[in-house]
Amino acid sequence: MLAWYRRVRRDLPWRRTTDPYAILVSEVMLQQTQVARVVPRYEAWLERWPTAEALAAASPADVLRAWVGLGYNRRALRLREACAAVARDGWPREAAGLRRLPGIGPYTAAAVASFAFGEQVAAVDTNVRRVAGRLGVAPEELLPAGAAAEWNQAAMELGATVCGARRAACGECPARPWCPSAGRVVTPPRARGRRAVRFEDTDRYARGRVVAALAAGEGLPAGLDAERLERALAGLERDGLVVRDADGAARLPG
Ligand code: SF4
Repeated sequence: MLAWYRRVRRDLPWRRTTDPYAILVSEVMLQQTQVARVVPRYEAWLERWPTAEALAAASPADVLRAWVGLGYNRRALRLREACAAVARDGWPREAAGLRRLPGIGPYTAAAVASFAFGEQVAAVDTNVRRVAGRLGVAPEELLPAGAAAEWNQAAMELGATVCGARRAACGECPARPWCPSAGRVVTPPRARGRRAVRFEDTDRYARGRVVAALAAGEGLPAGLDAERLERALAGLERDGLVVRDADGAARLPG
């Protein structure tokens, strides 16, 4: 697996660093956005806020403006809050401590702990869970001694590029010799009978439009009916992404 990974690995900027802050930024961005779109945003973000301390000192409004288009804006504020905790108390060096930072779940904590601090812990995202399931083992059982960081990258890469949810290319897989599922993965049929909801009709879309318009200084976006706009504003206000003044005018916080 490790030999395979060294051969096929994509050269991505966050794979060239052991800086916990840079790794955390990449992990949070990658949660919702494709690699190709994240790369330029990641590089611009690090140029603007090169350290956790720098991000902690930024205003929430500036952080939200820089996040527009990456989706799930609340993550940007949680990332800033995590950096504020780090600026105050320093970096926890193990996954258990990292999990106590705002907005950091088990996967992200394990990824930062293994990539930045070399902790021997499995970072289990959806891809790794699927690969381990097909191999019939728990992800932790797969960790080779002393190589957690590279192994985690290898397992994620395998799930992302070879052992996919809908298609397993077992003929190209380095795990094939010992995989009980090799050649037996059945593609699940697509759900029928339910009409797919267009993204443009979702509340998430409406909320994204509101934040993008406020970030651009354009006021509230046109084209959303009053009820939908109010629902989006109320949700954003509840999540701390928008503040409404006494006269009802909406703006980004801070
Ligand atoms: S052999 Fe096939 S099912 Fe098994 S891990 Fe590789 S791609 Fe997945």
